[in-house]
Amino acid sequence: MTAMDRHDQAYTYCAFCPKVCRFSCPVSEASHSESLSAWGKMTAAHLVHEGKRPIDAGTSKAVHACTGCMRCSSFCKHENTVGDALFAAREETIKAGLQPKGSASTLATFSQSQNPFGRELSSLVDTWKSDTPVRYPLFPGCSSLVKRPELIEDTLAVSRAFGAPMGVAKVSSRCCGYPLYAAGSHDAFKEHAQANAAVLEHVPELSVLDPGCAFTFNVVYPQFGVQLKTRIRTVVEVLADNLAHAPHHPPLEETVGYHDACHLGRGLGQYDQPRALLAKAVTKVTEAASIRREGGCAGGGGLLPRTMPDVAVEVARRQAIEVAGAQGDVAVVTACATSKRMFERAGRKSYDLMALLRRWADQRPQPLGEPDQKRGET
Ligand code: SF4
Ligand code: SF4
Repeated sequence: MTAMDRHDQAYTYCAFCPKVCRFSCPVSEASHSESLSAWGKMTAAHLVHEGKRPIDAGTSKAVHACTGCMRCSSFCKHENTVGDALFAAREETIKAGLQPKGSASTLATFSQSQNPFGRELSSLVDTWKSDTPVRYPLFPGCSSLVKRPELIEDTLAVSRAFGAPMGVAKVSSRCCGYPLYAAGSHDAFKEHAQANAAVLEHVPELSVLDPGCAFTFNVVYPQFGVQLKTRIRTVVEVLADNLAHAPHHPPLEETVGYHDACHLGRGLGQYDQPRALLAKAVTKVTEAASIRREGGCAGGGGLLPRTMPDVAVEVARRQAIEVAGAQGDVAVVTACATSKRMFERAGRKSYDLMALLRRWADQRPQPLGEPDQKRGET
């Protein structure tokens, strides 16, 4: 059985669909291409699977033009998991030697170092060794470990301010394996997931910073028959549960736009938690016309930034305008480090939710009786 066989019904449903979700695909919209709509890409996969079209440069491009954002599923009567099915089709491009360069190099790096950055991660994890007791072991994700240590610092500081101290877990030197899944190397992904399950055997709980990692652990692993015993929660979820212990500071007098990251929102159903945190931190939040299940994508998933970098940035640019307007003076806030990077690549100001919460939590509390200069109150 090939990876594509599991999605036979999904390919067929799409191929015979009157393009109901046609407007929903951010890649199709950003590239102005009907053949890159969910319908177009799934029809290409259907024809390949039926042996009616060869895997060639065109079909390879089609099955790689997807971020796995799940937005099309929100408008689909069958709730077809299009991203999942297209990622499976990518396996055929590996066999045919027709993978896009960006995807092939990701796999090559992963096979050498077990993560997409080609770095040894244990020593990075060791630098975060905590001197104080932690209640919540933190799994930051390899992207923050390698590229965004300040995001880990912000998260640790915010967790302390919320009375829910976190500390970087030793097991976070292992990548969740999402790049293997997205590249279509599904046998390697399953093997990697099984190895992670064995390593996590005695870890009762993890607070996961990157929504993509949490989605991979909680949603993708079970699809491959791998069930973790570890309770996986997102950092956003843990902090929202501890809101009652958050500092009693007034919100920052700022306007920000909020972007529902796909893996956090559609993937894990966490729409209210980040909004509850934001409502504490700032006075005004703008949102796109389409949010939650129907919200837009920032273009960072499915290896799109590596396979179609210009299209990925255009996806982010469009979503930033939806969320925060065309002028660029309002920052886009997101709980996903990849989305933030994509908004920045599109030339927009963007904050990580953790950085914003830290700024809010670090405000000096107003001593009792001290006049509030700004408001002229006593
Ligand atoms: S995802 Fe659903 S609505 Fe979209 S083309 Fe496929 S079957 Fe039609
Ligand atoms: S999962 Fe997202 S990027 Fe992929 S086809 Fe559906 S809407 Fe387009």
